Amino acid sequence: MIYQPVPDYHMHTPRCHHASGTVREYADAAIALGMKEIGMSDHSPMPKGYMDDWRMAPSEMHSYLTEVEQVRDALSPRLAVRVGLEADFRLGSEAGMARMIELYNWDYIIGSVHYIGDWDFDNPAKLSHWDEVGVEEVYCAYFDLVAQSAKTGLFDIIGHPDLIKKFGHRPPEGSQRVLQAEEVMLQAVKKSGCALEISSAGLRKPVGEIYPHPSMVSRAAELGIPFAYGSDAHGPDAVGHGMDECLSLLESCGVTEVCSFEGRVRSKQPILHAK
Ligand code: ZN
Ligand code: FE
Ligand code: FE
Ligand code: ZN
Repeated sequence: MIYQPVPDYHMHTPRCHHASGTVREYADAAIALGMKEIGMSDHSPMPKGYMDDWRMAPSEMHSYLTEVEQVRDALSPRLAVRVGLEADFRLGSEAGMARMIELYNWDYIIGSVHYIGDWDFDNPAKLSHWDEVGVEEVYCAYFDLVAQSAKTGLFDIIGHPDLIKKFGHRPPEGSQRVLQAEEVMLQAVKKSGCALEISSAGLRKPVGEIYPHPSMVSRAAELGIPFAYGSDAHGPDAVGHGMDECLSLLESCGVTEVCSFEGRVRSKQPILHAK
């Protein structure tokens, strides 16, 4: 490790049907890496009518919270375990999401856009839909939704802010429309007070890049938007994955701190080189 470990706030459990491992196994993996803090953030249930097969059911929320709380209580103070959620932003479901968020005293909520309309564009099973759409339009629609997600005020962290690139589809080089949509999105994030996630998950996907792109990290840093790190681990082996690469990208853009959350109150931790 080049850096002292920072909190990893993006981890899933098997309740979402595409992750493996117990919360304790994620926590043990973090301890083995010398981490002092993690947060679980499994895929939120969605209000009726929006269900797909890659999230926990409303009836699983209780067991999710109980499992995370038990590990948190067992490992405190050796490892701080935060209780979070990766909530989907879909137009029309904001009120239902707000009600669900109100049900519990979360440490933080990640707001993620995985859908454009009815298309979950990051689902490998829906990859063929890319052949039917214009990449430039899709990028603009995606960043517009991310901007709207920030404006809801429901979220503390904007998850993987350029997830749209996951499979390597790219808009035309220098597309002014896309650049403008990104800028509008970052301005909305700035105004909302949300943090942006810096996620190593893209390194493990066809795109082979950190989310977000260095140009977006750099512009966000210029705007003074804070960052939180997440591996988006769907198994204990991915905890802390790519942390050095992410922190080194932040540092190269002049970012000196990352966020930490407790009871939805944000604090900052310095990015420090390992001794
Ligand atoms: Zn997932
Ligand atoms: Fe996600
Ligand atoms: Fe995730
Ligand atoms: Zn995710």
